[in-house]
Amino acid sequence: MQEVKEDKKTTPPKKPLFFYYIIALIILMLLNALLFPGLLERQVTQVSYDTFLTMIDQDRVSQVAWETDEEQMVFIAKNEAGQDAYYKTGVWPDDGQRLLEQLRSNEDITFEASIPTQASPLMSFILTWVLPIFIFILIGEVLSRAMVKRMGGNLPGGMGNAMTFGKANAKVYVEEAQTGVTFADVAGQEEAKESLLEVVDFLHEPGKYAQIGAKLPKGVLLVGPPGTGKTLLAKAVAGESKVPFFSISGSEFVEMFVGMGAAKVRDLFKQANEKAPCIVFIDEIDAIGKKRDGSGMGGNDEREQTLNQLLAEMDGFDATKGVVLLAATNRPESLDPALLRPGRFDRRVPVELPDLEGRKAILKVHGRHVRLDGDVDWDAIARATAGASGAELANIVNEGALRAVRMDRKTVTEADLEESVETVIAGAQRKSAVISPEEKKIVAYHEIGHALVAAAQTHSAPVTKITIVPRTSGALGYTMQVDQGEHNLMSREEVCNKIATLTGGRAAEEVVFHSITTGASNDIEQATKLARAMITRYGMTDEFDMVALETVTNQYLGGDASLACAGETAARVDALVVETVKQAHQKALRILRENEDKLHRLAGRLLEQETLTGEEFMALLNE
Ligand code: ADP
Ligand code: MG
Ligand code: ZN
Repeated sequence: MQEVKEDKKTTPPKKPLFFYYIIALIILMLLNALLFPGLLERQVTQVSYDTFLTMIDQDRVSQVAWETDEEQMVFIAKNEAGQDAYYKTGVWPDDGQRLLEQLRSNEDITFEASIPTQASPLMSFILTWVLPIFIFILIGEVLSRAMVKRMGGNLPGGMGNAMTFGKANAKVYVEEAQTGVTFADVAGQEEAKESLLEVVDFLHEPGKYAQIGAKLPKGVLLVGPPGTGKTLLAKAVAGESKVPFFSISGSEFVEMFVGMGAAKVRDLFKQANEKAPCIVFIDEIDAIGKKRDGSGMGGNDEREQTLNQLLAEMDGFDATKGVVLLAATNRPESLDPALLRPGRFDRRVPVELPDLEGRKAILKVHGRHVRLDGDVDWDAIARATAGASGAELANIVNEGALRAVRMDRKTVTEADLEESVETVIAGAQRKSAVISPEEKKIVAYHEIGHALVAAAQTHSAPVTKITIVPRTSGALGYTMQVDQGEHNLMSREEVCNKIATLTGGRAAEEVVFHSITTGASNDIEQATKLARAMITRYGMTDEFDMVALETVTNQYLGGDASLACAGETAARVDALVVETVKQAHQKALRILRENEDKLHRLAGRLLEQETLTGEEFMALLNE
């Protein structure tokens, strides 16, 4: 799918400021050289008395005048090019009276009282004073406008106002300038869509709601992990609700100028009120909506001011007028409680990671935009991508298309998509990696170890692929397990089995080579995490029963947990974690020792083929 273009800002001028000054200078110089001399002060050529007479004889002179102050003749005559030009003679000889008579009697020559060699005083004033100043003002205007653009404020209405820095950089999507995204582009997320549809409906027909006396929430907060389509949903709302849509990102409030954030909030709401009914969308609201923790020194005063302004504005605007505030975040727990109280963001719409059906739908939506080779089993790909977000799924489809292009094909096949699933999960194949035969053997046994332990236990997801082709992520090989259906709950037994499977790789190394390698570091990390969660969060031990010993700090971003128990308890937890993993490890060792012949056979085949599919694996296992 093509990324929706949202940046409508005109690109800031790249030319340095002095560029404009130079242009101004050149313009002035040109005006001076070409226009002004003729207009301000006429070019007057001094000629001798002889020449003057000759010119009269040649009938070139048309007008003459006597300049009393300077005691000289000024006259207009045709120059060599045949154009009228101004001439003067210098001081007139004493017996000039005779010549004057002669000139008066010449019918071709008009005698003027005077011939002005200066342009009109008003004209010269305008040209020498007013015009340059005007030009400089114009240039200053252009420059300041360029600056405003550079600083991100380009609203209509900024015309003629050089100080528009405080204007919010809200992009306005109105009916004709729509985002082009509709609800059809957002797959899955049915509940979220329903919730937002209500908002859209309200904006279309406020009367329907007013009749019953129903008030729409002032603010709707979209929360969920990154890449689940929160921004996309907001854009879809913009596309569907034929009302103006103001969109701004939280980080845009946090600007370099002190006080600008608050000013922007004020301006944004002012505009929204003018354009009501409309929607205001604040993306990544956690950038300004963080809890105010009163940590005095070093606290972010600027951000707090912005937040306070936002709170004040939210109270200020009239919900019946039809301004709906939409916001998105993936850190709801860090938001200031004042933002979340009723009357502010009183509706929270969870936008969770997609389930199996959701993943399938998202894959299909994005699959529409690429040329597919026949039918693609989206179900299989959706199953292989448990836990993937919408953005990752979009990426998988795109990677598949890229692979098809790389292989010089015109269409995307299912194999492309399968490969891209692995690329997104484990990185691209690293064909250039040089791995010694000895290491390759270890990797093969390690992976078969995982697969065998998984297969020997009930309640564990079937193995679908084993490979020892190294990946750019650093994995030297991996075993893929894919659940058949949707999996929402895990029993204690399943968790234990999973830990055992994770230890299976290392166990195989021990059984076969009687030595261990660093290759299991990732397995160890995962196994420890699971074992700890079992004890501290899932309440799966007798000793601690249903007591939460850890709390998850940010649910949507990695889900880090922080310990919430006494030091003694923590020590006991650590001991229990070690014990749990140890037990699982023993179990894995037992399974592998019992099946050592199979381990050798499978590892041998994997070494030969480098990749085994799930079916091949099962066939070999059951031989
Ligand atoms: P976030 O929740 O982090 O704001 P986005 O809305 O920016 O995520 O999603 C990023 C991209 O992932 C979207 O542009 C879209 O291509 C894809 N995507 C995410 N969720 C969905 C979905 N439910 N349906 C279709 N595409 C999706
Ligand atoms: Mg987003
Ligand atoms: Zn492993």
